[in-house]
Amino acid sequence: MLPVRRSLQSPDPFHMTDYSRYSFWLETAGEDLTPRPALVRSSDVDVAILGGGYSGLWAAYYLLRQNPSLSIAVVEKEIVGFGASGRNGGWCSARFAVTPTRLEQRYGRDSARALMLAMYDSVDEVGRVCDEEKIDAHFHRGGVLTLARGVHQLPLVRASHAAYERLGLGDRVRLLSADETKERVKATKVLGSLHAFQGASLHPGRLVRGLARAVERRGGVIYEQTPVSEFEGGTTPRLLTAAGELRARRAIILGGEAYLTRLRKLRRALLPMYSLITLTEPLTQEQWSQIRWQNGESVASCRYTVDYLTKTRDGRILFGSRGAPYAFGSKITDEMDRHAETHADMQRTLVEWFPALQGIKFTHSWGGPVGMPRDWMPTVSFDKSSRIGTAHGYTGQGVSTTNLAGRLLAGLVGEKPTGLESLPLAQRQSPTWEPEPLRWLAVRYMQDAFLRIDTALESGRSRPMDSPLAEFLGKH
Ligand SMILES: Cc1cc2nc3c(=O)[nH]c(=O)nc-3n(C[C@H](O)[C@H](O)[C@H](O)COP(=O)(O)OP(=O)(O)OC[C@H]3O[C@@H](n4cnc5c(N)ncnc54)[C@H](O)[C@@H]3O)c2cc1C
Repeated sequence: MLPVRRSLQSPDPFHMTDYSRYSFWLETAGEDLTPRPALVRSSDVDVAILGGGYSGLWAAYYLLRQNPSLSIAVVEKEIVGFGASGRNGGWCSARFAVTPTRLEQRYGRDSARALMLAMYDSVDEVGRVCDEEKIDAHFHRGGVLTLARGVHQLPLVRASHAAYERLGLGDRVRLLSADETKERVKATKVLGSLHAFQGASLHPGRLVRGLARAVERRGGVIYEQTPVSEFEGGTTPRLLTAAGELRARRAIILGGEAYLTRLRKLRRALLPMYSLITLTEPLTQEQWSQIRWQNGESVASCRYTVDYLTKTRDGRILFGSRGAPYAFGSKITDEMDRHAETHADMQRTLVEWFPALQGIKFTHSWGGPVGMPRDWMPTVSFDKSSRIGTAHGYTGQGVSTTNLAGRLLAGLVGEKPTGLESLPLAQRQSPTWEPEPLRWLAVRYMQDAFLRIDTALESGRSRPMDSPLAEFLGKH
């Protein structure tokens, strides 16, 4: 990436005026990123939506499909795709924020199964809309491969397989031996894997930008560079901006994910947790033949500190991880998108996975905040009395879940049942996070503990003494 150009006006000194610098995906979205016009005066619409990411845009898209005469405005503080939707790892999978095991424990077998089936449908639906709306989002059905790297990860892969079987979804996954796994992806330390057949990878930037154009084709209006400073519910709910207010006859929808915590009323609704990504240059044919990966699966291992890998259409490897330290007061700044120490560590780890890539160049590194709810469970809700709808808290698993959320929310707002209303993410609310400094202490402790557990297990040592506590606190 070229040197970062900084905005002189912005209060965040790391804010960039050139949006293509925020991620490889925005850089290669295949379209001009010049901002659309901002809101300049107060106006009235049927539905006003905060956030030009997948949540806001899917909700707008399905509302307009349901009722093409609705007037809908989306208000985005930067440009469409500025948030996680333009920066993510490109996994469009049936993976949900809460694991199948935990879903079953919390909500029972039937609800857990129904939610997982809805997630599979969402993957298909994203692909279907890409076809129908001619969004060239590089949608590729490669499935998901979760590797057991090291003997300590084998029980996790097996437990996950058992959970799918208990939910009657055993036909959608298969346990692979070490050899079968290496036939697919030749990474070091692999002792087996879980292969989930239904799952896709995609180009996040092309999806979010294409979706915005689909919304506009159906009559939706998008205002960019228009920050919402406050919102109010009631008979005429509204989004407040410096240029005026957007009053809604039917509903306002809050789709700002981690950034919602910047709004006074939602400070403790979520915890912004940074996920970071590094990207290689395109691999040569020889490098690909050494590491295989011919089917383009989305790949991960079972680390507590998370790793996720995607093969891009132009033959690069994207390596993502959680790990940048949580900042006091749930701070979100552009400076936090790049954490040199974590990015360097991820680059070393990638070469450790694939020694054949020794000396490979990394061309891009970026990151962004994901929204963590206190109970790890996403929320999709619409309150008829305040006329406020929201969809948030995807914990870094939002590419397909936002599609599910958009369909559900459109049905709730438009009073058109979708059959998704009884899913456990509907019409609920997570507890709020603790106030500071308690939040900082707890989250930093968890981050440190998970890193220590991974490091100990990977070097063949026993788990740290406090690992049961960390696992209890972080169970999802
Ligand atoms: C680095 C990274 C990797 C990820 N990888 C994956 C993955 O591989 N697979 C997966 O399923 N999920 C992944 N995720 C999560 C996924 O990208 C998100 O869950 C999803 O994009 C959330 O969409 P959203 O529209 O709710 O939020 P966002 O995409 O964050 O959009 C919110 C938008 O609202 C705008 N906004 C916020 N506040 C205001 C305001 N006050 N006024 C006006 N506008 C406002 C923001 O500018 C932003 O554009 C990843 C996330 C990150 C950060």
